[in-house]
Amino acid sequence: MFDEKWRFRDCPWCGLRDTELRKISTFGTPRPDGGIEVYTLCSCPRCAKPISFHHNGQNESPPELFGVIPEDGEESRPVQNLPENVERYYLDARRVLDAGVPDAAAVQLRRTLEAAAAKFGHEERQLVKRVEGLIDDGLITKGFGDVLHLVRKVGNLGAHATDERVDEDTARAVLGLTTQILRNLFEIPHVLEALTAEAPPPPTEEQLEQDLAGSLQTSFEGEDGSPPS
Ligand SMILES: [Zn+2]
Repeated sequence: MFDEKWRFRDCPWCGLRDTELRKISTFGTPRPDGGIEVYTLCSCPRCAKPISFHHNGQNESPPELFGVIPEDGEESRPVQNLPENVERYYLDARRVLDAGVPDAAAVQLRRTLEAAAAKFGHEERQLVKRVEGLIDDGLITKGFGDVLHLVRKVGNLGAHATDERVDEDTARAVLGLTTQILRNLFEIPHVLEALTAEAPPPPTEEQLEQDLAGSLQTSFEGEDGSPPS
C-alpha cells in the first residue's frame, strides 16, 4: 500500500526542498503473467511535474516502496555541483518564476549571478562588470556577450525604488542564460574533473621502460602461467 509519508520529499524536477507532493491517483498496470504492478502518481505543487511511486498492493501491509520515477539524486538537479548560496538563489528564482512573480525571480537571478561571479573573485559593484570579468577570464564563452543587455536589465533591479518591471518572457530568458552560465562555471569543470580522474594519466617514458622490462621478465619466468604479453 501507499505510505503517505513518501509524499514529503524534494522535487526531482525543480529541486523544491522537502515539499508535500499532491497525490493524483493510484493505479495498476497489468503484467504479462496476469499480475498487477501498482503505482501511485503524485505531482509537485510548484512545477506540476509527475512523480510515480511503485509500491506493493493497496491491501498489502506494511507499505513497501519498490522505486520512485524519476529517482531522487544529484543527477535530477537542474544544475549540478553548485555552491550552496548560489544554488539557494537559483532555486528560489525558479520557484518564484513558476509562482508567477517575474520581478522577484529577476532579483533572485541577479543574486545568483552575483554570488557565482564572486566565487571566481569578481566582486565589482555592477553585475554587468562581474559578468564581463568572467568572459574576459574565458570562463564563459564570448557568445554570452550578446546577452549582456539582459544582465544589465536585471543588474539594476532592487537597487532603486523606481525599478522597471520585468515581464515573464524576460525573466525566462534570464533564467535560461543563468542556467547556461552556471553549467559553464560549476557543472562542466566538475564533469571534466571526474572524467580525468577516471582515466589514468599517460605513462611517462620511464614508466614505459619499466613496464617493458617487467613484461620481458614475466615472459622469461612465466610466473603466473599467463602467456607473455
Ligand atoms: Zn517541482
